[in-house]
Amino acid sequence: MAGIPYAEEIQTTYENFTAHCPMCGFKNIFNRASDFEYLKPIAHKQVVCLNRDCGQPFIISGDSINSAFEMLIYDCYELRDAKHYAYCILNLAQAFEVFFSQYLRVQLLYRPFASDSDQNIEQLNTLTNLLYEKIKFDSDFPECGQTSQSYLAEKNQRR
Ligand SMILES: [Zn+2]
Repeated sequence: MAGIPYAEEIQTTYENFTAHCPMCGFKNIFNRASDFEYLKPIAHKQVVCLNRDCGQPFIISGDSINSAFEMLIYDCYELRDAKHYAYCILNLAQAFEVFFSQYLRVQLLYRPFASDSDQNIEQLNTLTNLLYEKIKFDSDFPECGQTSQSYLAEKNQRR
């Protein structure tokens, strides 16, 4: 008995995991948030072909392990080739935001934790939650990982 086949033709972006079905060749576009509800890199996942005439299970793997800000920058190549220059600039701006959000977490949490001889994980978790509480949306500062677009949209809704 043969196992579940792997998708060999894949493409990954910040938002989507695209895989051609190994049985019918259909181009399946899986959105990480809405289809998987999981935003981290996918090492191995069984999915079902979205082609209604097929519907066969197959395995996806080989996801990019780049940081989120790098994925946003890489997505710009496709946007540039399609001449979506405005979206390309928005992606770059979002990449900077995500980068500096990550920079804050590294400088304020992970580097001090790594150099601390105790490396108390409970303390790191407490400080992580404290940082989150101090800079979350309610305090009028963008939440870590929140984009300027979503921040401004939420802020305008509150008015
Ligand atoms: Zn299929």
